[in-house]
Formats: sequence, C-alpha cells, structure tokens
Amino acid sequence: MTEPAVNLLGLPRRELEQLFVTIGEKPFRARQVMKWIYGRGVLDPMRMTDISAVLRQDLAARAPLQLPAITAVQESADGTVKWRLDAGAGQAIETVFIPEPGRGTLCLSSQVGCAMNCSFCATGHQGFNRNLDAAQIMAQVVLARRELGDPAGRSPITNVVFMGMGEPLANFRAVVQACNLLVDDLGCKLSRRRVTVSTSGLVPQIRRLSQEARVALAVSLHAPDDDLRSELVPINRRHPVAELLDACWDYVDATNTHEITFEYVMLDGVNDAPAQARQLATLLRHRPAKVNLIPFNPFPETRYRRSAPEVVLEFRNILSAAGIVTVTRRTRGDDIAAACGQLAGQVDNRVLVPLGSRNGRLQEAAWPT
Ligand code: SAH
Ligand code: SF4
Repeated sequence: MTEPAVNLLGLPRRELEQLFVTIGEKPFRARQVMKWIYGRGVLDPMRMTDISAVLRQDLAARAPLQLPAITAVQESADGTVKWRLDAGAGQAIETVFIPEPGRGTLCLSSQVGCAMNCSFCATGHQGFNRNLDAAQIMAQVVLARRELGDPAGRSPITNVVFMGMGEPLANFRAVVQACNLLVDDLGCKLSRRRVTVSTSGLVPQIRRLSQEARVALAVSLHAPDDDLRSELVPINRRHPVAELLDACWDYVDATNTHEITFEYVMLDGVNDAPAQARQLATLLRHRPAKVNLIPFNPFPETRYRRSAPEVVLEFRNILSAAGIVTVTRRTRGDDIAAACGQLAGQVDNRVLVPLGSRNGRLQEAAWPT
C-alpha cells in the first residue's frame, strides 16, 4: 500500500524529525530540509543538494511539491500588494503585503471566510467556508517572499500579522503550528514580537495561546460596553468585555509580552463619541494596552460609514490624555480592496499585474475566471 503524500511545508519541526526517523534516516535531516524551505524558499526536494540523491528521490515521491496557485496579483498606488491564492474547491484566500519605511508587514489569512459575523466586516458578510491548514498558511509567506523578489533570507517581510481573512483563534491548531514555524530559528526566524495574532475575542483560545505560542496579541475591541460590542462583534455575547480583558491581562503576565494592542474601528455615530472614548480610557488606563484606531473601510452592502477625521482626532486625544498610547492607522491599499476588513476573495476587474511580472511594467488585464 502506498503511503499518503505528506506536505513538508507547515509541518512542525518534531513531526518532520519523526518523518525522517520513520524512513530510517537521522532526525537532523529535518534541520536541513527546514533551512531549504524557510531559509531559501526551496520546496522541491530534488533541489535540496546537501542530501543524498536517493533520499531526495524518496522525499520527492513521499512529499510532492504542493503550493497553492496565485490566481491574481494587484498592486496599490501606495505599494501595497494583494495576492489571491487558490484554496482548493473553487475557493480563494487573500494575502496582503504592506511596505512602510523600515518595515514590511505581511497580512495572512487563516480561514476561507469567517464565521464570527462581525457586522462591519466584509469577510464576515461572506460567511464561513473552511479552515486553512498550516501548509496553506505558510505557503502565503513562502509565495510572498518569492514574489517580492528575494527568497534568500533578506526578505523585506519583517512582521507577520494574522489580520487577513478569518478568525485565527477559531483555527487554533493550524495557526499555532504556523506561528511556531514563523518564530523558529530554522523557520522564518521572526521575533515573537513581530508575529501578531488578531482575534475578535475567543477567550479560551487566548488562554491556550499563551501556553502554545507566545506571540504578540491584538484584540478587536471596537466598543467599550457589552451592549454595543455584542451588536458589532457577536462573540461578545459568549465572552463579554470584562472576561475578555481579564484574559488579556493574564496573557501579558503569562507570556511576558509588552502589551496588548486593542483595535477599534471608527464607525460614524456608532462607537466614536467622546463619552465612549472616556469609557474606553477607564477600561484601559494603567494597563499594558495600546490602541489602534482603524478608519472604517467600506464595502458594498454595508450600512456603516467612516468617522470624520476630526472625530477620530478628538477620540484619540481623550485616550492619549489618559496616558494610553493611541495610533490612528493609515488606510493602506484601499484602492485594491486590500485594507482591513475588505478581504472577501471577491472577483472584480481592476488592474491586474500579470503573474511573475510584478517588477516589470503593469498591464491592464481582467482577472482570470
Ligand atoms: N478576525 C480577526 C482578524 C482579521 S480582521 C479579528 O477580527 O481580529 C483584522 C482587523 O480588521 C480586525 O481588527 C477587524 O475588526 C478589522 N476590520 C474588519 N472589518 C473592517 C472594516 N470594514 N474596516 C476596518 N477594519 C475592519
Ligand atoms: Fe471575522 Fe475578524 Fe471579520 Fe469579525 S472582524 S467577521 S472575526 S474576520
């Protein structure tokens, strides 16, 4: 009987070692293979030249190359790049790269769609299709590095955030597996502070995360009281604000992280009043907390509008006056629907960069159907 095919990509270090032991090899082969995959971006076992030809052939047979196809690439006027990847079964996910001076952030998807149903989110409107596996998550990193032109470790990707499609903590096992490869010395070698999981507030999983992958945590708060938060982020009905914040402060203690980032999308006339800023300040004052105010990114069929800049400024000033570090996020890539909450894997016919020619001249083309 033939063994089922293994995907080397996304495999935890220990499982990879086990794989080699099973085929009568030394576990240290795992180190060599990981260096090829994550250090050099080489996934084809036949190109891993420091392992014997026989083993290369054996690996190629057991672990055929399985990378999702890039079905579209879009580049924003501000340099943001969005890739659409085939997630199988006719489904698509999106990955976004956001360049900034001195850093490059890769925004990963963790699910096809999302079941959390937040009322202001395009992904939530799309509904839930399925979880990605760790290979599909890590493939986003490998492909982005390749596409950005340097798979050799000098990648412009300095930070990774789970802020694309999906609720990462609802796909716990695969996301933890990916986080651990992102920070592994033989993996992507990112520091724990540069890998951020963003959650709508799944309290039990926040607690488990502190044991299983001590990465940075961002929490999508969006409202300072339970009534409003339950309307915007329905998971709040199960895990209300006080319970969520307790889990956050415990996370900081358990992981020795510096602080929790609270995300707050500014919705005109809904959660942006000065009284709400004061309420939020009361919750977060003297805590290891930082606030990111996010301009609402509209999408078709939404009933919300973006708060006016002066309203955002006043909100921020109230938080800052309470001693809370508050940043107003610049909207990036909204001309290509790559901004927060706009990812829905939708098909449209904006500017498309032909595959493999991102660094060449841009051309107008239709999305492949
Ligand atoms: N599911 C996770 C991570 C993905 S969403 C979470 O909710 O945290 C990433 C961020 O984008 C979250 O803070 C989310 O609340 C925010 N977001 C969702 N829809 C948005 C929209 N339309 N405009 C601006 N931000 C949005
Ligand atoms: Fe899901 Fe996050 Fe969108 Fe809520 S905001 S529906 S949790 S992706």
